[in-house]
Amino acid sequence: MVKDLMSKGIKEVKVLQVMLDLPRHFFIEIGFEEWAYKDQAFSIPSEQTISRPFTVALQTSLLELKDSDTVLEIGTGSGYQCAVLSRLVNRVYTIERHDTLFKLSNQIFQELSLFNIRNYHGDGYAGLPLKAPFNKIIVTAGANDIPDSLLDQLALGGRMVIPIGDEENQEMLVINKDMEGNITQHSAGKCEFVPFLQGKVGILD
Ligand code: SAH
Repeated sequence: MVKDLMSKGIKEVKVLQVMLDLPRHFFIEIGFEEWAYKDQAFSIPSEQTISRPFTVALQTSLLELKDSDTVLEIGTGSGYQCAVLSRLVNRVYTIERHDTLFKLSNQIFQELSLFNIRNYHGDGYAGLPLKAPFNKIIVTAGANDIPDSLLDQLALGGRMVIPIGDEENQEMLVINKDMEGNITQHSAGKCEFVPFLQGKVGILD
């Protein structure tokens, strides 16, 4: 899988090393483990998908992480992207709107002893004001626009990576906030994510 990512242009050695070490099959349902190390998205419960490894590697590389960073992820899903982040930075907060996925991913984080992750069941539109600001923010669902709450919670000198647009036409935006609070953005190319939806979903919904 990692050789495949390198052939597709992923260069950041630290990211590749973490993806080599971390068992992706933990995040895929029992019986489908053979799919875990192919560069493909795959269905997970609650009609969501685990992002393809290339997308995880790309978003992670675009964040330009430092060991000391505190990161906020919106859209925990399977938990794989979060687990990759947790091996690269000091602390990761992650929010998932589906209770089922929140609970499943929590179990995997415990099994893999990823103790620097704090995960929440909630609506990522609001971010996590109590723990802000974040050096880096990563959104792993496609939004129509950049939520103001997330821009506000980005630290000075911080960076956010967020897919913007509908399912037909999405672009990966890289947003930088400088030390004076000025915002600039550029596109890192086309992408494809499940939609960023408002509200949280409980087990009985
Ligand atoms: N990072 C995930 C990708 C999962 S797909 C992984 O590595 O597997 C995107 C996830 O975003 C889905 O689980 C979806 O339920 C979640 N999501 C969508 N809108 C959300 C919102 N407003 N708040 C929190 N999670 C959201």
